[in-house]
Amino acid sequence: MVSGPSGVGKSSVVDGLSRAVPFHFSVSMTTRPPRESEVDGVDYWFVTRQEFERRIAAGELLEWAEYNQDLYGTPRAPVIEQLAAGHHVVLDIENEGARQVRRSYPEAVLVFVLPPSLAVLEQRLRNRGDTADADARLAVAREQIAAAPDLFDYVVVNDDLDAAISRVADILASPAARPQSVTEETP
Ligand code: 5GP
Repeated sequence: MVSGPSGVGKSSVVDGLSRAVPFHFSVSMTTRPPRESEVDGVDYWFVTRQEFERRIAAGELLEWAEYNQDLYGTPRAPVIEQLAAGHHVVLDIENEGARQVRRSYPEAVLVFVLPPSLAVLEQRLRNRGDTADADARLAVAREQIAAAPDLFDYVVVNDDLDAAISRVADILASPAARPQSVTEETP
């Protein structure tokens, strides 16, 4: 599971990772409106708050959290199917979701992607254009970074994208990160 502050480049790390290691990427559900480049069903499943709340009530989400006034969550069924098939599943989620995953899947490997510095992160967030949104995301990022050492198994600094990708690929390839069903079959 890959986490880290908004703007740190998690999507680029996950994209690059897909060329190095086979895995299923869990497409999250969110009430946030799509950004211009985002495609429904690829980047997120974009739903209304009412629909999201219905999914929570129906127990369809493996974890969910509120971030920057929107709801984000992981659809449960695809994760269970992929784990049962012995595949790695990669989630891109924030800290509260990571805590919930830790409770439901203690063997999950939690990776936090750190920016090279807060100044770099601030610049990346401001480049997206919305000042108020960038301020809010930066405030959350400070809290996420402070909490990361106690919550995550690995911290990877995204100072060089290729190096960050290969570090996460190594983590995924390590015995501790074997897909759950494979681990269960091992005597
Ligand atoms: P963004 O709006 O930048 O796409 O995402 C905002 C934050 O929500 C990021 O930290 C991202 O990792 C997190 N996030 C995305 N999907 C999920 C999810 O399914 N569950 C949780 N808990 N967080 C998510």
